[in-house]
Amino acid sequence: VSRIAVLTSGGDSPGMNAAIRAVVRTGNYYGLEVYGIMRGYQGLLEDDIYRMDNRSVANIIQRGGTILKTARCKEFRTPEGRKKAYDNLKARNIDGLVIIGGDGSFRGAVEFSREFDIACIGLAGTIDKDIQGTDFTIGFDTAVNTAVQAIDKIRDTMDAHDRIFIIEVMGRDAGYIALHSGIATGAENILIPEQKTDIEALVASLQEKERRKKLVNLIVVAEGDEFGGANEVARVIKERMPQAEARVAILGHIQRGGAPTCLDRLIASRMGYHAVECLIQGRRNVFVGIMNNKMNYVPLEKVGKKKGTINEEWMKIVKILAS
Ligand code: ADP
Repeated sequence: VSRIAVLTSGGDSPGMNAAIRAVVRTGNYYGLEVYGIMRGYQGLLEDDIYRMDNRSVANIIQRGGTILKTARCKEFRTPEGRKKAYDNLKARNIDGLVIIGGDGSFRGAVEFSREFDIACIGLAGTIDKDIQGTDFTIGFDTAVNTAVQAIDKIRDTMDAHDRIFIIEVMGRDAGYIALHSGIATGAENILIPEQKTDIEALVASLQEKERRKKLVNLIVVAEGDEFGGANEVARVIKERMPQAEARVAILGHIQRGGAPTCLDRLIASRMGYHAVECLIQGRRNVFVGIMNNKMNYVPLEKVGKKKGTINEEWMKIVKILAS
């Protein structure tokens, strides 16, 4: 490769900027021409493509969001759309593409690389940590730390008023944010999509705690919990325990933003550097992850969502430590 491009796609996550910076600076270090594509595949189709020098990524490593912006793009799902995308790259002789996004973005890259001679490299940019082939995804550590800080604050009120608090964190398909932030804040219960929610057992345990005057209870719920999120859980608790004071807090998008943590900046820098190394070494259509502190390269078509891998032992620890 001699000319490469980088884009961010799907949901944004803190640390994407650090990854863009690493791709741009590593590419320039090796004498490649590096281009940035605005708004993911949408900008690629619309030819929204710019040369990036080292200065264009100055002072962004600490910023959340993505300077390249991100979007979802229906047209890229069609062969005609992807042909347009290819033509725009070809016109500039770009033959390597780094895609920072989630598994949806990788599906798009797989289709694209089957049809056209463009080497695609995928980096996991998602707060959900639910991508196979990597122990870390760019943004998870920041999101989970934001959740912990917010829950700690709510806990003060919870404790002062002897209340049950049901706090909903992000995670439509994955419970990692709920599990990690729940353990770190001493939650009594953690409800995640990977496990069936036994609402009866939950109510029974709250009633038992009420009998022994333990009135403060923190329940952390992932938005994709099969019972239907924090509001549903609160509805049942209020119905069954009308005397209890139960409150709901939905943390929402604060979890997606903010300055990336040191860990997210570190893994984004490392992954971005290795994405360019891959292109230089002639690797094509691979996902770059980190496992057991080593780089892990997986064919892009084999990378999907990580499912149901939450360790049972953690749930036992939650139970023991919250009693
Ligand atoms: P994420 O990357 O965060 O999982 P999406 O699932 O929205 O986010 O995917 C991002 C974009 O990737 C989509 O808007 C679309 O342009 C592209 N994409 C996703 N799946 C496919 C597919 N099967 N074929 C082609 N493009 C796809």
